[in-house]
Amino acid sequence: MPQTHLWLDNITESNGSITINVVLENTQHARTTLWYRVPVEHKTAITPSSDPFVVGALFLAMRQATDLVVHGQVSPSLLRNLEEFQAAWVSWKPERYIKINILADTEQESSPAPANEAVVAFSGGVDSCFTAWRHSQGLCGRQQRNLHAGVMVHGFDIPLNQTDVFNRAKLKAQKMLASLGVQLLPIATNFRDLGDNWEDCHAAGAASCLMLLQQKYSVGLYGSTEPYKKLLIPWGSNPITDPMLASDSFQFIHDGAAYTRTKKIQVISDWPEANKYLRVCWQGQDKDKNCGQCEKCVRTILNFRVIGLSAPECFENDVSDAQISEITHLNLTQIGEFEQIIDAAKTANNTDSWVSVLEKTVAYNKKMLNAPPANRLRRALYKGILWGAYPLLVPAAAIDAYRRQRSFQRSWRGGIGRLKGWLTKELGAIDG
Ligand SMILES: [Zn+2]
Repeated sequence: MPQTHLWLDNITESNGSITINVVLENTQHARTTLWYRVPVEHKTAITPSSDPFVVGALFLAMRQATDLVVHGQVSPSLLRNLEEFQAAWVSWKPERYIKINILADTEQESSPAPANEAVVAFSGGVDSCFTAWRHSQGLCGRQQRNLHAGVMVHGFDIPLNQTDVFNRAKLKAQKMLASLGVQLLPIATNFRDLGDNWEDCHAAGAASCLMLLQQKYSVGLYGSTEPYKKLLIPWGSNPITDPMLASDSFQFIHDGAAYTRTKKIQVISDWPEANKYLRVCWQGQDKDKNCGQCEKCVRTILNFRVIGLSAPECFENDVSDAQISEITHLNLTQIGEFEQIIDAAKTANNTDSWVSVLEKTVAYNKKMLNAPPANRLRRALYKGILWGAYPLLVPAAAIDAYRRQRSFQRSWRGGIGRLKGWLTKELGAIDG
């Protein structure tokens, strides 16, 4: 199998940041640099091991079907876990990924961090807020970890060129974490430039960043997305493969899957800073605030509403029934999330108008999702026409006419074929 060589190129320090540059060179000698930038005051937390880079480059190597040759030190326990990690992803998406070998110059376990401290991947959204809140408030029984820091990554949901937006979002995250006595640790990385499918690789990207700090932290917490009772597999972060992004020295924990999003919101609704600074929107123009219009903003407001709370301060306005009815293009995950809200409303015998509007909206979206592409296109076009998109009338009619003609031709041919078959059978029987 072709090989991708990986090595730590250099570590530079400037403007209060330390940048770790990792080179990836493929068989054609094309080089890509994967870099991570950490505030210089956290320099001592950075591991000398290549474990985080292996996790960062894994999806790329699996996608390009090249063995990964690591010129550095890698933990054998990580390599063991990544074999199983790959086995899962290759069986989930065989058309996209190939199982590869990871060969390291030195196989040696990373030395464990001196204190058993945890760091959480913190975007400021519902899942990471829930994890940060419950671990800092002693709300998780024996799952309790010693949470010290929250890593917010620039380059994941906020593009690297949007420095102002990231700084504003960082400020909100800082206020939230400070109220819990947890330190914010911003990291920037060009991980997404590797071009992996974000829906598949987001947990690996986060694990790579948290693992980079394993000289100080021995546990990385990652807030779950879907609850156990409504798991979505395959999905980048899940309770099956997340724990495999770990070594004997560093655990990566998929946290909170026993809770639905509504239940999580119920728990964090006691946290004033979360009500004020929660950041859930990824479709709005500025990703440091909530647009209040997109499906995720609407969904989050309804998560609050279904437990009897009004839209929190982090949203400028509440949601109307009309807005709910206008939600379209939901995928399977989003439909599942809205269904959980409907279930919670029904359990609470809530008969408000928004519940029935939401039911109709979800039913419509399910119908659209299950409809054949041509039907979906036709319905979308009809809807577009209703909204005044008259120029679309001609293509819609053309597609419709074409489909009807094809369908008629098929029925006609099918009818003739069946008639021939029947005649042959009957005549054959008479002859016999
Ligand atoms: Zn939004």
